[in-house]
Amino acid sequence: MTNAAAELESLEGEIRLCTRCDLHTVANKAVPGEGPADAEVMLVGEAPGFNEDKQGRPFVGAAGRFLEELLGAAGLKREEVYITNVVKHRPPNNRDPLPNELAACLPWLERQIEIINPRFIVTLGRFSLGTFFPGSMISKVHGEVREKDGRFFFAMYHPAAALHQEKLRQTLLEDAGKLGEFLREKAKPTGQADKPETANGAGEDDSPEQLSFF
Ligand code: SF4
Repeated sequence: MTNAAAELESLEGEIRLCTRCDLHTVANKAVPGEGPADAEVMLVGEAPGFNEDKQGRPFVGAAGRFLEELLGAAGLKREEVYITNVVKHRPPNNRDPLPNELAACLPWLERQIEIINPRFIVTLGRFSLGTFFPGSMISKVHGEVREKDGRFFFAMYHPAAALHQEKLRQTLLEDAGKLGEFLREKAKPTGQADKPETANGAGEDDSPEQLSFF
């Protein structure tokens, strides 16, 4: 096991014992995240749902199956990406995470990013997007690449939101295709790839902002 893998495993153990906010008192199991410690791509969702809370794994059940379909459309396999959420315990009845819960849980995500050091972070849903780009609207920036602090960020809607909305489902599949194109472009040998800012038409409101937690 590499140092990073051991560190990540130890961190996941700490997350399982976390009591920093009240969510641990109502959730069944913590869902720290899963995937290789050397993943190039990290997916960050919102919070565990019913099935995730039962199993202690991120994105299982219907949303998980759709996520795997999206990964396939992007040319990725589930086992090669790291998948986590901004909040590691399930909020009751899947309500939105509260500001104090998001703040309490953020240091765990920061540590995961530090250890894994992914080149690409895919945000799933508005809470994840807001963690990295406060004030950004998902309806405006989904499907776009932004570069910040030496990483590429790609915003997508949350897969669970699309389960009963065919239009959103199509949007997500199209965005996953764009993500795949971008990843393939970035996989080219140095010198052949586009600069980060030009990829996929990042919009005017994409000016780099400092991550408050880095
Ligand atoms: S949601 Fe996050 S901060 Fe709150 S108890 Fe769970 S791991 Fe800790």
